[in-house]
Amino acid sequence: MTRIRYTLSEYVGDPKDWSYTWELRDDVALQGNCDFCGQTEQRLTYEVARAAERLWICQRCVGRYPVGGMLDDFRLGPRSARAQIHGLTARLKQQTCHDIIREVRAAVADPALEEVLVYYGRNLQLSPQRAAVLFGALPQLPRAIDPRIFEIQSRSTAHQEEFGALTEAQRTSVWPALSPVQKRRLTALGFAPAGAAARKSARSQPATPSRSWPPRAYLP
Ligand SMILES: [Zn+2]
Repeated sequence: MTRIRYTLSEYVGDPKDWSYTWELRDDVALQGNCDFCGQTEQRLTYEVARAAERLWICQRCVGRYPVGGMLDDFRLGPRSARAQIHGLTARLKQQTCHDIIREVRAAVADPALEEVLVYYGRNLQLSPQRAAVLFGALPQLPRAIDPRIFEIQSRSTAHQEEFGALTEAQRTSVWPALSPVQKRRLTALGFAPAGAAARKSARSQPATPSRSWPPRAYLP
């Protein structure tokens, strides 16, 4: 059995020697790479510096390694630096999603997109129906946008039923943006689009290694 293990690149040396520059990248095609551990297909990456050197690291490495940073002439320890990074991350993710919806609205003549934009501004998430409207229009943008950058509401019965009331094609378009927990819940309700079960079994192996994080190699 092969399990992917992400280990710290030798080049990095001691993570404590690196500092955040507070530069973040939000890759809407989920194509970011981590220079610390080599993980690919990342949405958020963070720039770190050691003298003149610059690397970009993933969210897991942010949580894992004691990288500090200077802020307003103060040296932040790893814990404070991580809190600062979390705040920047939340703001950037929301900003990115908001900008994309605005971009789609400008590019596609569908009045429903105006409502999607207002809804996102209020909730910072999309209901299943708004997600379906947006995802139907996303392919008209000139660049690839991974729908997983959007959070979909499915906790309430109303949102679950809203998902269930979508057409088969709409449910299929929203499905990839749902978390495994959301997919399980909606599948139990009989709302999974046809073909989702087959895809799930084919993907369940690559999807699970994240649960084995952190790798044993880094435990004391
Ligand atoms: Zn990493």
